[in-house]
Amino acid sequence: MKRVLVAVKRVVDYNARIRVKADKSGIDVANVKMSMNPFCEIALEEAVRLKEKKLTEEVVAVTIGVKAAQDQLRTALAMGADRGIHVLTDAELEPLAVARLLAALAQRDEPALFLLGKQAIDGDNNHTGQMLAGLLGWPQATFASKVETDPVAGTATVTREVDGGLQTLRLRLPAVVTSDLRLNEPRYATLPNIMKAKRKPIEQLSPEALGMDVPKRLEILRVEEPPKRKGGVRVASVAELVDRLHNEAKVL
Ligand code: AMP
Repeated sequence: MKRVLVAVKRVVDYNARIRVKADKSGIDVANVKMSMNPFCEIALEEAVRLKEKKLTEEVVAVTIGVKAAQDQLRTALAMGADRGIHVLTDAELEPLAVARLLAALAQRDEPALFLLGKQAIDGDNNHTGQMLAGLLGWPQATFASKVETDPVAGTATVTREVDGGLQTLRLRLPAVVTSDLRLNEPRYATLPNIMKAKRKPIEQLSPEALGMDVPKRLEILRVEEPPKRKGGVRVASVAELVDRLHNEAKVL
């Protein structure tokens, strides 16, 4: 394969404690640690492994978003991507807008494989890969737990985690694949590679340069925190547990 594109998103770090804004319009991200979406790290790791196995010549990381999203592209470069593409926009991004921009890049750069995370942990949409494949008219395999490519045959064989088991698909390339948790364990960027990544190229461009706008089709009405969990009680015996379930919780 000549090229693999990987979409990486800047999101609130999975360890960060998030707070809902007072007016319930969204999450307060001021002073919150931001990182690469964990499923995107997995997608990127898979692409880098393909390059290490000499199954692709180039790995390109793509992000769409604010200026600071460059940090996540640098992480991608430190993990092994050869170059980055940053579509710069301050607009609020919805999956269809992201998919349209990624589709425009796919048409321009012609990857054999477009890897994405199955889901971004901020919006929890799980839409973008599917929409991208639909827009391009390419085959897709979502929730991948194993990816094997055969550049000679021009195919990928992907094992998917589906309810109740595993499904294996063979796809004609070019194709879209989204990563599940068990696809691999992403590497940490080492210090020498972080230094090297500073010299790798990042192309910056606007949505307009790709012939796209970033329309808003959805309106968030309300974001609420889950209800606070009430404290548990420790019971002394099974008899007491049964008694409480019967008389207090009234579930028996
Ligand atoms: P979602 O459909 O929003 O859950 O996101 C699924 C995947 O789409 C992510 O794991 C990324 O690979 C990709 N993606 C979503 N938004 C962006 C973005 N702003 N920039 C780059 N990739 C994105």
